[in-house]
This record gives sequence, structure tokens and C-alpha cells, in this order.
Amino acid sequence: MWECENPVDLNESIIDKLPLSLKEVNITGGEPFLHKKINLLVEKLSGRGCKVIINTNGLVKIPTNSPLLKLKRVGIRFSLDGIREAHDSLRGIPGNYKKVIDQIDNLQSAGFTDLGIVSTFSDANCGELEPLYRLSHMLHIGFTCAIAANSELFYKNRGNVFENPDPFIRSLRKIIRSELFSLKMNNLGKALFMNELAHFAAHPAKYLPCSAGKSFFYLAASGEVFACNMRSLPMGNLVENSFKDLWSSSKSQSVRRSTARCDSPCWTMCNAKQIMKDEPATYLLNFCQPWKASHEKN
Ligand code: SF4
Repeated sequence: MWECENPVDLNESIIDKLPLSLKEVNITGGEPFLHKKINLLVEKLSGRGCKVIINTNGLVKIPTNSPLLKLKRVGIRFSLDGIREAHDSLRGIPGNYKKVIDQIDNLQSAGFTDLGIVSTFSDANCGELEPLYRLSHMLHIGFTCAIAANSELFYKNRGNVFENPDPFIRSLRKIIRSELFSLKMNNLGKALFMNELAHFAAHPAKYLPCSAGKSFFYLAASGEVFACNMRSLPMGNLVENSFKDLWSSSKSQSVRRSTARCDSPCWTMCNAKQIMKDEPATYLLNFCQPWKASHEKN
């Protein structure tokens, strides 16, 4: 994003054009906390009943008296791709890890609890998966992981970036086991998601059609609506159109036909949630098979 020419900031008036049926919004950047009106944007979304998750690199200090921390259904997720120097060297920013840990500590001391770590893995940092998971437990905050995926929209390429996914898969399986042994219903969903992530790392392929442009969409700061944040499949611009017109246009219908057939190797929380909801039996079955194989092997 930092290499974008003429980057624009999302205008708050666009929020008013979003449908009231929207349930969840994930705000990502650049860095959302650099947006001068981030408080207003989040207040508007939260006021419309959305769960709002803000993804941050943790470099901008969030004041402990920020009005955002008083809003209901607002969460903050810190990007961490490794422990200490591993994170700092991957990000190229000395001291970044400490800043994140200090912010988590400050926010927790201020009584804010909806916090989590979001980690993205590739060959370069797959050894950091288990330490990051343990860190999230130690801090009593959430943990989400993803595979570094290329994006036609952001980086002009597609595909995931693992050359040797085995160490990542081994670590992921240990985490799945620990999530299952916690015997919490919530963690079963997480374990299912991670199990498919392990599949994707090894053999990127989807069994069911993706619902991008139907159950979720990506809104760029310019007001352009895309089916997802990976592929360049524009549906229309909210500056020029109402959401209703844009959503029901023939262009959007044709985009949905493309996403349903999409063969891109991606498994993110956005597409996974709906795909697993549509066909839970497929994923439960899939879960049992590799689980058994891995159990026997280990
Ligand atoms: S699978 Fe879905 S979310 Fe992923 S790139 Fe294709 S359309 Fe986008």
C-alpha cells in the first residue's frame, strides 16, 4: 500500500451509503490509525450495529482515553509475524514488536479486552507460528493466522507463497489439537478454519464456490466496491451509485458468476466463514480425515 501513487483516504460520507444489513466490518490499511477521522468512521459503523475490527501494525499509539475503546462491538487486532527481532526484521522496523506488546499492555490496563494477534505466514516465518500462539495465550488475547497470499488488486499477482509448507502444517496441527482439547465450542470453528488452512498450504484448492460479492465485499478508500480484496473484480463505485443499484447491477451479477468459479488459492476468514456455513458436513468430514492421518503419523 505504501507504494501506491496518490493514495486516498476513505471519506466518511461513504459509510452512510453502506447497507444497514452489514454485520461485520474489518478495517485495514495502510494503517487505519493514521486516518484523521478514524474515530468518526468507527463510531458511524458501530452506531449502525456493525461489529468493527481494526487491524493495526501497532506503531501509532492508541490513547487509553480514545472514544473507540468505549464503543460496543469494537475490536483491535495487532499484526505480529514473529517474536521480538523476528517480527522487527520481517517488518524492517526495529522496536515494532515492543511497541505492539506495550500497546496491548496499556489497553488491557485501561480495561479494553477485545484484542488479538493476527499473523501472516510464509516460508520466511513459519517457525514463529507456535511461539506466537503461545504468546496470545500468555496475554489472554485472540489469535488468528493466515497464509501470505498474493493479491491481484494490491500486488498485481495471484497464488500463495509457500515453497515448503510442511513445517507450517506441522505447527498448525499442534495448535488445532490444543484448540480441540480446550473443549470450547468457539474453538471448534477455529480448528476447522485452521485445518482447511493446512490443506490450502499444501494443495490450494476449494471444494465449494466462493461467495465473494454476495456475502461479503471489499470497499476501497476510493469508494470502489470489489468482490474481494484479492482479485480485481470491480462492482461499481459508491461515490456515483447507491449501494442498492450497485449490488443489483448486471456487472455485479457477472462478477458473482466469476467468484463462484474462482480457482485462486485463498482461504481467508471472509470467504471461509460463508463456505463452511453453506456446507458444514464437507468440512467436518474433511477435518476427520487428515486429523486421523496426522494423529497416526505423530
Ligand atoms: S476465492 Fe473468493 S475471495 Fe479468494 S480470490 Fe477468489 S473470489 Fe476472491
